[in-house]
Amino acid sequence: MGQDDEITAEIRAKLEKQLARLQSELRVVEKSLDLKNRADMARPSFGKRVGDYTSEVIERVSKDGSARNLRKLIAETELALDKLGDGTYGICNDCGRPINPERLEALPAAVLCIDCKRKAEHLQNKN
Ligand SMILES: [Zn+2]
Repeated sequence: MGQDDEITAEIRAKLEKQLARLQSELRVVEKSLDLKNRADMARPSFGKRVGDYTSEVIERVSKDGSARNLRKLIAETELALDKLGDGTYGICNDCGRPINPERLEALPAAVLCIDCKRKAEHLQNKN
């Protein structure tokens, strides 16, 4: 095994650990969403606790947001693992330039360089 293989194995271990953590977080969030949905359905519609209900809805919406965010992170981590497998890890998915090693160190699942990431976020905010 050469040095590159060792580095690859190290990154893979890091990504797989991160993936497992994200998936278990998502399971927790989804489970609590599910319980909440069931509690809401069981709640009589003529209930007097309108205020409580509203705050629960707000809480649920924010949980939905975090579930969506977790799914996105999981997809990114899986993509980074794919790239590791086909030898394109560390290369920006968009412009094909190398991703800053410091960025990869801080964010092993990064598949875009900082410039493309900023561009993507800018586009997302516009929509
Ligand atoms: Zn790029």
